[in-house]
Amino acid sequence: MDLSTQDITYCKGVGTKRADILRKELGVHTALDMLQQYPYKYIDRSRFVYIHEIDNEDTFVQIKGVITEFHAVGVGKAQRMVATFTDGQRTIELVWFKQIQYLKLQLNTPYLLFGKPSVFNHQYNFVHPELTLWSKVKPEMTEGLEPYYNTTERMKNAGLNSRGMRAIILNLKDALLQGLPETLGVDLVNAYHLMGRSQAVYSVHFPKDTPTMQRARARLKFEELFYIQLQLLRQMKRREQNTGYKMPLVGHFFHQFYRECLPFELTDAQKRVVREIQGDLRSGSQMNRLLQGDVGSGKTLVALLCALLAADNGYQTCIMAPTEILAQQHMQTISELLKPTDVRVALLTGSTTRKQRELLHLALRAGQIHILIGTHALLEDEVQFANLGLCIIDEQHRFGVAQRSRLWYKNEHAPHILVMTATPIPRTLAMTVYGDLKVSVIDQLPPGRKPVQTLHYTLYRKGDIYRFMEQQIAKGHQVYVVFPLIKENEKLDLQDLQNGFEEICQAFPQHSVSMIHGQMKSAEKDFQMQRFQRGETQILVATTVIEVGVNVPNASVMVIMNAERFGLSQLHQLRGRVGRGAEQSYCILLTRVELTKDTRQRMDIMVATNDGFRIAEADLQLRGPGDLEGTQQSGLPFDLKIASLATDGQLLELAREAAQTVLNDDPLLEKECNRIYKRQLDVLRITAANWSDIS
Ligand code: ADP
Ligand code: MG
Repeated sequence: MDLSTQDITYCKGVGTKRADILRKELGVHTALDMLQQYPYKYIDRSRFVYIHEIDNEDTFVQIKGVITEFHAVGVGKAQRMVATFTDGQRTIELVWFKQIQYLKLQLNTPYLLFGKPSVFNHQYNFVHPELTLWSKVKPEMTEGLEPYYNTTERMKNAGLNSRGMRAIILNLKDALLQGLPETLGVDLVNAYHLMGRSQAVYSVHFPKDTPTMQRARARLKFEELFYIQLQLLRQMKRREQNTGYKMPLVGHFFHQFYRECLPFELTDAQKRVVREIQGDLRSGSQMNRLLQGDVGSGKTLVALLCALLAADNGYQTCIMAPTEILAQQHMQTISELLKPTDVRVALLTGSTTRKQRELLHLALRAGQIHILIGTHALLEDEVQFANLGLCIIDEQHRFGVAQRSRLWYKNEHAPHILVMTATPIPRTLAMTVYGDLKVSVIDQLPPGRKPVQTLHYTLYRKGDIYRFMEQQIAKGHQVYVVFPLIKENEKLDLQDLQNGFEEICQAFPQHSVSMIHGQMKSAEKDFQMQRFQRGETQILVATTVIEVGVNVPNASVMVIMNAERFGLSQLHQLRGRVGRGAEQSYCILLTRVELTKDTRQRMDIMVATNDGFRIAEADLQLRGPGDLEGTQQSGLPFDLKIASLATDGQLLELAREAAQTVLNDDPLLEKECNRIYKRQLDVLRITAANWSDIS
């Protein structure tokens, strides 16, 4: 029987209704799909504990014991049942709040109790524990590890809770014992000491013991990561075959700029990255490179130098920024730097007027513009270049992948692509989401920067913070005050922002205060931003619109209100707005008093380190890749069934290495021994179009 073609509807214990739910909720269509719903945790049912051994609220435990007494407490809806349970040595309280009329408890009869302890009145108890009469306990209930399966509310309503899922999988046990076809080559299985596929799938659902279960999971994780890497690397190899515009010259524009305009010495990291990019540009194949560099590491300059290289070779460059403010800022910085040269730069954003646009389109098509800076507006069809050779996308994470690929269609050939991000991406994530790109890292800040000092207080200390702001302003510095703005609650947040703005105006009557937020007309936003930039206002009250890229070196304090409502990477990005000048800068996180464990950890990490990569790692550990700042939109293009980018870094490295080895030997997967990979890639359909494919 081929499990991969066996309709889930006809599996024992399923039927039409459940099949429908399984399809919709989990994408399970076949018996094999069902077997690929892997447990997310296991509970050791072979272990019994004594009540005195209970020492935390995080682990399920099972105890053998009897009920010595029970009684109802309270009346009506508030009524609950309380029982005393003993293992012969100590006692513990059991409590039921719901449906206590159906509860049938027997006194002094042995029970198997299973549950997670909680704490009430400084004592452990069990709320709604699972009780089974000892005489009814089946051997498999207390045998080894019990797997737990993900379910949803809809599934539970149809009896498909974890146990329900397990029951269906149990019915497939015999079929599974007949074996599944292997999906990895025998060389790989041997080289990496992997468990065979059949045994792995079997042991994941019916584990003999913990080591076997772990080996089984490792095999399945490896396989999952391997195929993603194989697809990505194949894509990368294919791209290397793509003809790219050849840019071998380092000419007048570049040299003139380097000699006459460069306001400072490049850092070694900047130099290295420019060389890496230059290597790509003259190689003859199309470049796809990701440039990672923490906030303030000087990516703009690198971008500009690359654009000049393109110009020297007769090609145009477009630089795309995620917001209007940023595009404008790039325009300002870049045109200022280029003043002594003949390089022509233009800006195109949503607020460029029709008239300006028409002129711009003409100049662009005539090749009279070397560098076009802009927002999404660059992607519109009517924007046609004479010879676009290089696309630089700043702060990539703001753009969806779909937009990333749209750029490729601007010209006959794909231009070189440089994606710049200030959100340090943990290696595992970069290897997966951007695994088809080459990566450069600016891992060094320009000299003379003092690390930002980060402090965490509760909002009760606002008065003190205001005094501190006053002192800084007296020294001639400027201050950012950031309020949260969460999409779902925009109205309320805007009100908060407005109130905050008024409060600050009152607290600082002798200073000028600007305010910007995302709902403002962009002309108004720019006006306010420019006033702050020119030093006409001392305080800028804002939402996260200032998060990305805004550069005001004179601003030395960043106060973040309700910092608990921001993600780690977002906080780090915000902090990057200060510390751009020579003075000591501060980032002050103000939160409520009561914090969740998670929030406390986030604040502690912020205070402890300025290293964006460490912060990104921590973010990944705390929140998981799905929520990770900077990837929500570009997103993981697939669900990982078993591997985790937070914890399986080592396996991922191995899987990538394995995929690389296979492809080095046989780039097109044509050899007989590699058929298996080609076939499986077709089955899995990890389409690189999800990433950034042009093929
Ligand atoms: P980001 O990487 O965050 O985009 P920017 O390109 O905005 O950083 O650079 C941050 C600041 O550092 C700018 O004011 C820029 O002029 C300055 N800068 C860039 N490179 C250097 C350098 N090599 N030496 C000194 N300052 C530099
Ligand atoms: Mg930048």
